[in-house]
Amino acid sequence: MAAQTEPRPQSEATVAAVMTRAVITIGPDATVTEAADLLHRHHITGMPVLDDHLRVVGVVSEMDVVLKPGTTVAEIMSAEPRTIDEEVPLSQAADILMAQRIRRLPVVRHGKLVGLISRTDLVTFFARHQWVCSKCGGTQRGLEPPEKCIVCGAEGEGFKLEDAPGGM
Ligand SMILES: [Zn+2]
Repeated sequence: MAAQTEPRPQSEATVAAVMTRAVITIGPDATVTEAADLLHRHHITGMPVLDDHLRVVGVVSEMDVVLKPGTTVAEIMSAEPRTIDEEVPLSQAADILMAQRIRRLPVVRHGKLVGLISRTDLVTFFARHQWVCSKCGGTQRGLEPPEKCIVCGAEGEGFKLEDAPGGM
């Protein structure tokens, strides 16, 4: 749950800026009972399955637990799931989450899990940040810098990401 915001030059919003870093995971050799227990205890609907080298080898969801026969996580998980790199722009993460109708994507750095990004994380980013026009100070929201200022019409790179006032 702890969403740490790292100080970084905010000319572009990346997956790393909004992902959840404290991720509940499980190993492929764990039992289905253990998986069910973890999902239930942490009130989550799915989690990445990691091998000994922290590589994502699968994703196991509550539906896998309930519907698929098997005794180990490896037997019921969705193998080789889609992952996303932490440096990818948020807009691209949104495209993948929406187009593929998936709830969450494991986030990797050099192939190893570093976080998880969900649709909720995108909404949170949208609610808590705004882009500020360097020319007129006008603000607008979005997952990526606007192409054009809605206040003064300035175009280009002159937008800075700031925390939105009156946050949650
Ligand atoms: Zn402007």
